[in-house]
Amino acid sequence: MTYAGTFNHQYARYYQPTLLELAREGNFQAIAYWLNSLLAPQGIHTQVGMTRSGRLKIQLHFPRRSSKDGVYRLRDRLVRFICYRLWTLNSSSISDVWIVAQQNGTSEVLWQQGVRIATPANERLLRTLPRVPRRRQVARYRFQVMRSLLLSSMATSGFFLGYWLFYLRVMGAEAIPQSPAAPKPTTAVVNQPNIEANQTKVQSLRRAIAPLILRPAAVKPPNQGHTVPQQYQGQVVREVVPAGHEKVVALTFDDGPWAGSTTQVLDVLKRYNIRATFFMTGMQVEKHPEIARRVVEEGHAVGNHSWNHPMTHLDPTTAAQEVNTAAQVIEQTTGVRPQLFRPPGGNLTNGLADYAKQRNQTVLMWSVDSEDYFVSAPLILDNVLRDVRPGGIVLLHDGGGDQSHTITALPQIITALKQQGYRFVTIPELLELGATPTAPSPI
Ligand SMILES: [Zn+2]
Repeated sequence: MTYAGTFNHQYARYYQPTLLELAREGNFQAIAYWLNSLLAPQGIHTQVGMTRSGRLKIQLHFPRRSSKDGVYRLRDRLVRFICYRLWTLNSSSISDVWIVAQQNGTSEVLWQQGVRIATPANERLLRTLPRVPRRRQVARYRFQVMRSLLLSSMATSGFFLGYWLFYLRVMGAEAIPQSPAAPKPTTAVVNQPNIEANQTKVQSLRRAIAPLILRPAAVKPPNQGHTVPQQYQGQVVREVVPAGHEKVVALTFDDGPWAGSTTQVLDVLKRYNIRATFFMTGMQVEKHPEIARRVVEEGHAVGNHSWNHPMTHLDPTTAAQEVNTAAQVIEQTTGVRPQLFRPPGGNLTNGLADYAKQRNQTVLMWSVDSEDYFVSAPLILDNVLRDVRPGGIVLLHDGGGDQSHTITALPQIITALKQQGYRFVTIPELLELGATPTAPSPI
């Protein structure tokens, strides 16, 4: 039994597992390192250990300066993010997770949540965990066989009974002679060809006059944000119920124009021949006027997203300045005087939205948060598909930082929504289609 001689050192390689492989095995350090690489850019530091009851414990340390409210608000999103990441590992050594959120240097727990990560591997593991005694297993198997036999015999006899009843009914109906006083079926049969002939006539007529109807519509210049139907002026809009619940959806992009990412977004939209709406900040328009002009040249609508994206409370004068200076630079650069205003961060209470409403502008919120500022492409798509409805407004970002996730997800979003039968419209188009704004709901 000497195998030692067969081992050739010349070809020996050291095997080094990757970080993800280690994480998959449940190595705390590897999991912590991996989660840190994802969350540290958001200022969240992660520690991984084991709880007394044998669960994987993930401690999230938020920066001291972060507001407690903000930490609470991030709860669902973070839990989902972490669990999704752990799920992708498909690890059989990670199943029960306990996530705890704290502020740096404090012992106070802001929130905590236990989650079971169900991956195919874990499910198999969980299924094999309770060891059933052999005799009881046999009994259970016998019970399952008997039950399925009983069910299938019931299904078969039910089918034959139904068939027999149906047969009786048909035969009975045929046995009754048709009286001339009840000519319902005959008229239907006689009329059918006529209806069909009429329909084909109508269709050919429609086809003939289609170019005449479509021509003026094609000439009409797209509404790129100059005007808004009166019923929406000075209102907060989150989504629009289009007449007949037509499957339309509006993609909106915030925080641009941004070097690199906005042009990439425009390229994707052009490839799919889609118009969207861009909520620009005045500061960025001043930095990249040529990109702002390209947005308008390619038929997209434009809205105002303030000058400098302030999220804090502003006095009325500053709020007015924020809105007006941005509107001015957008109009000077693109020729569009924006009548749509999207408050930075969706904040409706810091004075900006109030000022825009006073000026009869439409405050445009959203009904679908893609969370593209926070999660990666598969989750962006998932978020959009989960919340989209006819008349929906999708929040995306073409600026503000690295938007590569958005650009990866965008073709997927467009393809998936097209497959579901959605048509893409700009916000002004959506407002024109809308019957009434939905009742504003608190954030
Ligand atoms: Zn923004």
